[in-house]
Amino acid sequence: MCLFCQIIAKEIPAAIVYEDEQVLAFNDINPQAPTHILVIPKKHATSIADFNEPLVVSDLFQVMRKLAQEKGLDKSGYRIVVNHGVDAGQAVPHLHFHLLGGRKLNWPPG
Ligand code: AMP
Ligand code: ZN
Repeated sequence: MCLFCQIIAKEIPAAIVYEDEQVLAFNDINPQAPTHILVIPKKHATSIADFNEPLVVSDLFQVMRKLAQEKGLDKSGYRIVVNHGVDAGQAVPHLHFHLLGGRKLNWPPG
């Protein structure tokens, strides 16, 4: 079982900030911004390349929007990032959306 599937199964602890039947969100263990939440589908997919659940995509975006609103980021701004593969530095092989905010975020990301 992959690391994030183990978090979903509650075999590894995480600071969970949202959970429903399809989606889990938890604080990143190595935050890159004051708000750094990982939002994941519970059904395992290794990356965006093998995720084929259009209805869950909609849920993921609703959850990210809700969390950003709750964190008060609507006015200041926030960023959503998905890494795939080596060049993007994907480290965990379970699709995850990074929700980042609470500071000025550099663009281009480098
Ligand atoms: P990526 O480079 O896009 O694969 O991002 C993986 C992210 O998972 C990194 O930001 C890590 O800090 C984060 N991460 C790794 N292990 C854990 C964990 N046990 N709990 C929470 N976040 C984690
Ligand atoms: Zn997994």
